Amino acid sequence: MREDLVPYLAEEAGVYNGALAPLQGKAIPRCYGLYVGSGECGQIACLVLEHWGECLHQPFDKLSLDIRMRILERLGEIHRQGLLHGDFAERNVLELNGDIRIIDFDQTEYHDCDCDMNFRPGEKLPDAEEFGCEQLWEVCRSDMRIWDVG
Ligand SMILES: [Zn+2]
Repeated sequence: MREDLVPYLAEEAGVYNGALAPLQGKAIPRCYGLYVGSGECGQIACLVLEHWGECLHQPFDKLSLDIRMRILERLGEIHRQGLLHGDFAERNVLELNGDIRIIDFDQTEYHDCDCDMNFRPGEKLPDAEEFGCEQLWEVCRSDMRIWDVG
């Protein structure tokens, strides 16, 4: 990774091995460490992650409800650890035999989540405030489309 991007990678490594450490091998891939050295063009860095699954090949709303719910469960686990994924998109979701891992944590923010992670698919669109988390509400509504919007 380019020298000017090394701090972002270091920040991401800090997230993997800090707040999200308990989720390694479950909601996120295992992280084997950040390696920094010097090359011809300055500092170079590499974050070594477990090789796991493949990026989603379909938009969220084309996936089976099972897979969408699994993704929400994983995203919910990240919220429970007190973090907001700053760049949630298909390219940052890995799938392998129906299981899910979420990646790319260089834009995370601290987050106090009030959602009880009971997503209630198929039910009527809940009130965002009662739901308890604006980001998860938006993901459920517009990305995963799990609710009946009438
Ligand atoms: Zn939340």
